[in-house]
This record gives sequence, structure tokens and C-alpha cells, in this order.
Amino acid sequence: MSTRPVVAVLLLIASYAAAQQQKPMRPEDTEVWQPVPKVIVPGRTDRDPPSDAIVLFDGSGLGAWVSANDSGPAQWTVANGTVTVNKRAGDIRTRRSFRNYQLHLEWRVPEGITGSGQLRGNSGVFLAFDPPRAAYELQIMDSYDNPTYVNGQASSVYKQNPPLVNAMRKPGEWQTYDVVWTAPVFNDDGSLKTPAFVTALHNGVLVQDHFALSGVTKNTGLPEYQKHGPAPIMLQAHGDPSAPISFRNIWIRELP
Ligand code: MG
Repeated sequence: MSTRPVVAVLLLIASYAAAQQQKPMRPEDTEVWQPVPKVIVPGRTDRDPPSDAIVLFDGSGLGAWVSANDSGPAQWTVANGTVTVNKRAGDIRTRRSFRNYQLHLEWRVPEGITGSGQLRGNSGVFLAFDPPRAAYELQIMDSYDNPTYVNGQASSVYKQNPPLVNAMRKPGEWQTYDVVWTAPVFNDDGSLKTPAFVTALHNGVLVQDHFALSGVTKNTGLPEYQKHGPAPIMLQAHGDPSAPISFRNIWIRELP
């Protein structure tokens, strides 16, 4: 085979490279000006809802929530700007469904909480709840000085991933969760296209770092996925005999 075509190609590459060297990139070659991000008004503090948030609970009532059992009124106890779990009434869920979002919520284990392990201030926030297809729990319980299996302590993705650190405050003090949830995406045939991801901060500390879930939360057995669409968020009324926990200041921002 003649070497001529090879030489020609090499010459072409060399001349192209030389041309590129003569035309160095300018700073503005990598500037993007459109589309301009929408302007929103941030909260007064990082705890306050920004202007594009949907307020799910501001202390005034449970209008954004219903009973998870029968979709009737949410029967938890609202007082002094907080809502306290009513274990007899059962879980509550948001009236609306969501796909991807940023969620802020605050919760408090009562001072003098009793019990141990999972039976101590257990609740939970289910980041999408439409059982049996959707149920993904970010654990809420007292993990201040209360050992349990680490993939079941506060800030764990229950039975899937322990938190990176234990950032728990004492019982009686308010805790914050700031969560970014990316819903799983399914193919038309029902198979999984991309898993759900969760990033979570507990009291401002990163505890879940873009963790990919393996499927729905199960107490017994391995997680698995089943196709589902947008789903409500659920707060758990766990049946443990310890005193009920409280929530306040819950808001959400829907993400693309
Ligand atoms: Mg729980």
C-alpha cells in the first residue's frame, strides 16, 4: 500500500492543529448568556421558604395533608406552630403528588423520650409514597445516644444506606432536614431507566450524598423497583410506644 494517503492525512491534521494554535480561545467563547435563570426571593434565613416554594405546613393547619389510610382529613395535633404525630390516626401524606423536588422540614423528638433502638421516637419521611409501587423512607428517630442498626438510624435511607455521619441533636431540640429527591425513571415496558437519587442534609450537614436507591423500602426482604409516577410525600406514625415526635416548617420546591 502506498504511504501517500497516510502522509496526506498527517499533513492535514498538522495544518488543522496549526490553524487552531493561531486562533486561541477567548474567554467569551465559553460564556453562556441564555436562558437566564428565573429570579426568586430567598427566605429571610435558610429555614424560611423562598418565593417559589410550596408551603406544606407553616403552623396554621394541615390543609396540604390527608390521612394516608383513607385520604380523609389529617388528624394529627396542631398547636403552637407545630404538628405532633397522632399514632392512632396513622400516617399522613401530602394532598399533592411530586416528582423531583427540594424539601425542607423540621422535627423534634420530645425531651424525656423513652425506649431504645427503633422504639424511640420512630417516624420517617417517605420521599415518594404510593404503595406498593412507591415507598422510600428517610428515617426519623432519636439517634442522639441510641444505637440501632446503622442503616436504620436517623438520616439513613432505611435498610439501604447509613448516614455519612450522625448529626443528631439532643431530644427536645429541633432538627432540620434538607432533601433533594430525584424520582426514578422507568421505561415504557416498566423496567428501570434510572434509579431514584437522594441527597440529604441533617442540621446542615451532608448525610446522604446523591445516593442511588435500589428500590422501595422494605422492612423484610430486598428493595426492588416497580414503575410509578409522581407520588405524595408521607410522614410516618410509627407504632412504637414512645412519645410522639413533632414537625414544623415544611416546604418544598418542585424541580425540573
Ligand atoms: Mg421510621
